[in-house]
Amino acid sequence: MNLISIYIFFPFILEFIIKYILGISEWSVIIIAVLMPITFFILFSLLKHRIKILKIIYLLIAYLPISINISHILIFNSEISCGAFMSIFATNISESIEFVDHVMSKKIIIFGLLYWISFGVLFFYSRELRFKAEKYKKTLITLFVILYPIFCFGDQRYRFPFEKVLFPYIEYHIDIIKNKKILNNRRNFVFHDIKSYIDKNEPELYIIVIGESSNRNHMSIYSNGLKTTPYFDSIKGELQIFDKIKSKYCSTLKAIKHIFLFNEKFENGDIITLFKQAGFKTFWISNQYALENNENITSIMATLADVKVFINKAHYRPKLASNYDESVVNYLRKVVLDKAKKKVVFIHLFGSHFPYAKRYPKNFDVFKSEKLDKRSREIAEYNNSILYTDYVLFKILNVIKNQDTNSYMLYFSDHAEDITDDPKSPHAHSDDIRTEEMFNIPFVVWLSPKYKSLNNDFMKWWNIHAECCPVDILHSIIDLSRISCKEYNKSKSIFSMK
Ligand SMILES: [Zn+2]
Repeated sequence: MNLISIYIFFPFILEFIIKYILGISEWSVIIIAVLMPITFFILFSLLKHRIKILKIIYLLIAYLPISINISHILIFNSEISCGAFMSIFATNISESIEFVDHVMSKKIIIFGLLYWISFGVLFFYSRELRFKAEKYKKTLITLFVILYPIFCFGDQRYRFPFEKVLFPYIEYHIDIIKNKKILNNRRNFVFHDIKSYIDKNEPELYIIVIGESSNRNHMSIYSNGLKTTPYFDSIKGELQIFDKIKSKYCSTLKAIKHIFLFNEKFENGDIITLFKQAGFKTFWISNQYALENNENITSIMATLADVKVFINKAHYRPKLASNYDESVVNYLRKVVLDKAKKKVVFIHLFGSHFPYAKRYPKNFDVFKSEKLDKRSREIAEYNNSILYTDYVLFKILNVIKNQDTNSYMLYFSDHAEDITDDPKSPHAHSDDIRTEEMFNIPFVVWLSPKYKSLNNDFMKWWNIHAECCPVDILHSIIDLSRISCKEYNKSKSIFSMK
């Protein structure tokens, strides 16, 4: 073995060892760890170009992607995939800084240093790029040609490192182009047979609060643990607390798509357009960072609404502290004063999105960790963010409670977060990891006295212990808002589950 062979094999072998130690390795990974570097070895030896350029190419196709993948494995115990890339690219600078801040650990820094130092040493001291086993060349090339397509089209886990990075990136950009096209053609969708069960002269004010990463097992209205939801606890009798509902996904973009689009497809129509065609004025108030150019589903939905407000400006200047969720309340007060008779308001909170400590002001720093380590501190901070969300919901409810209108407030989370002191708990949410805890969302409904009196018959059938797994939030919102159309399916609504 000369240094150049170590240079070629090093990233693959390291990736294999780490996967093997962490128990996410399979037999086929051994083949990849051997076959892929040999392939590069052959390809390089066939080319008669300068060695330095080949080594740089190798840096881009093996070292860099593998280091990204290993980092992902060390943080989340799973390989990087399309979903992870979607989340990385679909954020802005400030969210990315927060993300790096959240996941950075000694483990990652030590790995990064050792990896790139090894790369540097091997790069400078390996001189030749020569493949000596001439007689095996043909056999190896044949093997590669046969085996590679099997791996390539079989499962993305077995692809070349650079493909793992490049393909999802291309997919993501195709998605953006598709989204823009859809937005331009959006007026084409017309819902059929729209009906409302509420008189057309009766004012309606419906508030749908979409939480972020909140796990119901951390809320005291759902469990007997810490008093994290004192406000909700105090009005428990006024709330409908659905306790068996699971989200369908555990990443924001997929979850939002599921909540807002019929069959998760733009071409089948969306709930904002349905509300508009049913005679509602639609509002979108968000404290999450805005993405320009309608780059993702959340910003497209906001754009579809009659009025959209993105309060949080911190993404323009990452050093600026981001707003706390209670700032949505001032905007909600303006909505209440709006003259439209029928209004529906979507409020998108920052909720418990990591880094948790940034989601609440100092006076909500109530729960402290007994131990000093990062993980127990994170759990305490997460609970503080839940405590703060409870306060925000109290403020929101106070605004609509003062109105003697037919109204409801629905609160749920797009997905939950897996955050426990179990050493295996990733303290995150991701569709690549998908643990049980990531689906345990809260789903709470408050109803005004007027709503109750107008919808007595409808409410008779509600079962808060119904298992609707996963819940179809879109059809449930339509049901709760007392409208219907041909595209709506009552049997998918949680309010119709026995
Ligand atoms: Zn989310």
